[in-house]
Amino acid sequence: MARRALITGITGQDGSYLAEHLLNEGYQVWGLIRGQANPRKVRVSRLASELSFVDGDLMDQSSLVSAVEKVQPDEVYNLGAISFVPMSWQQPELVTEINGMGVLRVLEAIRMVSGLGASRNGGTQIRFYQASSSEMFGKAVETPQRESTPFHPRSPYGVAKAYGHFITRNYRESFGMYAVSGMLFNHESPRRGAEFVTRKISLAVARIKQGFQDKLHLGNLEAVRDWGFAGDYVRAMHLMLQQPEGGDYVIGTGQMHSVRDAVEIAFAHVGLNWQDHVVIDPALVRPAEVEVLCADPAIANARLGWKPTVNFPELMRMMVDCDLTMVSREREYADLMPAGAW
Ligand code: NDP
Ligand code: GDP
Repeated sequence: MARRALITGITGQDGSYLAEHLLNEGYQVWGLIRGQANPRKVRVSRLASELSFVDGDLMDQSSLVSAVEKVQPDEVYNLGAISFVPMSWQQPELVTEINGMGVLRVLEAIRMVSGLGASRNGGTQIRFYQASSSEMFGKAVETPQRESTPFHPRSPYGVAKAYGHFITRNYRESFGMYAVSGMLFNHESPRRGAEFVTRKISLAVARIKQGFQDKLHLGNLEAVRDWGFAGDYVRAMHLMLQQPEGGDYVIGTGQMHSVRDAVEIAFAHVGLNWQDHVVIDPALVRPAEVEVLCADPAIANARLGWKPTVNFPELMRMMVDCDLTMVSREREYADLMPAGAW
């Protein structure tokens, strides 16, 4: 019988790549979908004939219990979250509810459906993956960051993710649940939301190159991240759930680049000089910045045999190329429409 996976956050960047990967591995894949006629369902529309959907929301405990009961999954991947850090200063309570308490609700749904009692009893068959984040390290006491590095989150997003990490570990220790916390560093792709800096840059470069815009407004160019390709990172998620027991893993490339590097690579790829177009906007600088994040993925490399396949310059160029194609289609469409037709 094919193994069954339930993915929260199926309409997001990682959800769509993970669904593709698990389908290729022979899984039956179910996506938790919230909201009537969720417009982001189109992101996985290419897979619609192979995927199944179940209604639910990380804010609603009973919907999660129903979803787990209905799907009877072997593996649950909790990718659902408000993932954009600045949103967490604007709506801290909502972000805490979804990104923090939402994790507890999924764990509780698994515990209830599996009939796990209040004491450790050897665990459930359902394997749980929590999408934890390098933002938990925040103002880190050491670089690179590894599984043992203490947390110092710098945003309500990071604080909520730290709760999700610890409650995942606690359910492993309390109930013997097979529970994994994947501490993933930034990962990007042509499917990344346009509000994140790499995609904001790739989209702007494509639009500037084709004459749709002239300036790109950015905040802190000196921030340093360890950026990888989302397609590589979903392979790591799956591998983490295939180990003999649950655990915590740092996933990243181990390479550091600044926002300035991202800008330089993207503009150079289309033969433009970034200084002619980039404008620094102090309003985009964050109340508490995470200056440097870089992973030490040694444990993942050794235990999972996982290695990334796309480096940062390749990733930025891939994103610019995809956005060039997308923007040129926009142009063709605009050219076909007579002025004032809409
Ligand atoms: P996206 O923002 O692309 O996707 C987020 C997903 O969460 C969407 O499918 C969204 O669905 C869903 N969601 C939001 N609120 C709820 C809710 N109340 N109930 C159910 N689902 C909800 O994020 P990514 O794919 O990039 O990231 C996946 C996960 O990994 C997130 O948890 C993120 O915080 C974490 N992460 C990401 C990193 C990265 O660099 N990408 C790094 C480290 C961790 P909807 O269509 O309904 O809005
Ligand atoms: P994050 O690391 O999850 O917060 O991912 P982002 O892509 O949103 O931000 C990465 C880094 O880029 C952060 O340090 C931001 O402060 C920095 N940055 C600089 N300018 C911008 C901008 O215009 N938008 C975003 N999203 N980030 C920016």
